[in-house]
Amino acid sequence: MKSIVTGGAGFLGSHLCDLLLEKGHEIICIDNLVTGNAKNIDHINSERFTYLKHDITKPIYFGDKIDYIFHLASPASPVDYLELPIQTLKVGALGTYNMLGLAKEHGARLLIASTSEVYGDPLVNPQPESYWGNVNPIGPRGVYDEAKRYAEAITMAYHRYHGIDTRIVRIFNTYGPRMRVHDGRVVPNFINQALKGEDITVYGDGSQTRSFCYVSDLVDGIYRLMMSDFTEPVNIGNPAEMSVLKFAEEVLEIIESDSKIVFEDLPVDDPKVRRPDISRARDVLGWEPKVSLKEGLEGTVAYFKEKLIK
Ligand code: NAD
Ligand code: UDP
Repeated sequence: MKSIVTGGAGFLGSHLCDLLLEKGHEIICIDNLVTGNAKNIDHINSERFTYLKHDITKPIYFGDKIDYIFHLASPASPVDYLELPIQTLKVGALGTYNMLGLAKEHGARLLIASTSEVYGDPLVNPQPESYWGNVNPIGPRGVYDEAKRYAEAITMAYHRYHGIDTRIVRIFNTYGPRMRVHDGRVVPNFINQALKGEDITVYGDGSQTRSFCYVSDLVDGIYRLMMSDFTEPVNIGNPAEMSVLKFAEEVLEIIESDSKIVFEDLPVDDPKVRRPDISRARDVLGWEPKVSLKEGLEGTVAYFKEKLIK
């Protein structure tokens, strides 16, 4: 089984590469390192693993047969995609188009990493896959949300028109080791602030909610979806929903930090609620998350502690 992983030197992509190697796949990891880091794949020492530094908004060709394409490349943190609006739109549009072309050429199965952001600032909670979303196309977050919505649309068009075998995973907030210290997402921010005794920056009044999934659960869900026959989108995330303020308190408790919580401005169009309805993942994939927030945070805190010492 020969698999391509785009964005394979990123947080989720590198964990997916680890899982695919365990499952016996040969992997070509493609990443231009715009938000990733070669250190995330440094530990991989396998003849079945090749890394290619390449921007997938430009076409790429392979002689050998490709069986699976896991398309994860895209800036993912709000701080990253607000700094990289054009790259974000291009990788969602041109990057996905190029990967669909590759899938067509090789008769490969393609999975795209979509996001809970396709639901925007949702008016229903939890969000089932049947919900069409509430996205502001011209707001600052629109570059990410619309790139992913376009990626879903072109993927379904290739599936319907060309018969390409496709999968769409809608990923909800996921955390774990190998997130960048400064990627700006709430998990690395709060953990690093608490470890350094700095103020914990809660945006808005902290009443907005998120549901956090540990990375091992997430990549297990992605793998199951790829190996299933299911071509409609599937939510993968942990339905344990909590307010951002409560999350800050949990982090403080686990780290036993005396950092103070401070309140800063809420980013524009920040979704007020987010929680996956995972009925479909349960029914179709027999999947549900196994790692509790406490367990997952302990592993993540240990990783960031080591980064601080080094
Ligand atoms: P990440 O930033 O750690 O990884 C993304 C990787 O894609 C990086 O290594 C980056 O260098 C690479 N990349 C970006 N543009 C590229 C291009 N044009 N060519 C080649 N490589 C490129 O982020 P992540 O959290 O690992 O996210 C991975 C995927 O999962 C993304 O598509 C993201 O939208 C999606 N996702 C993640 C989450 C989450 O909570 N982590 C939630 C929803 C969706
Ligand atoms: N957030 C926060 N403080 C931070 C970083 C983020 O309060 O230092 C909030 C952010 O406004 C959002 C939630 O935490 O409501 C999750 O933000 P993140 O950037 O992790 O991802 P999002 O879920 O918005 O894509």
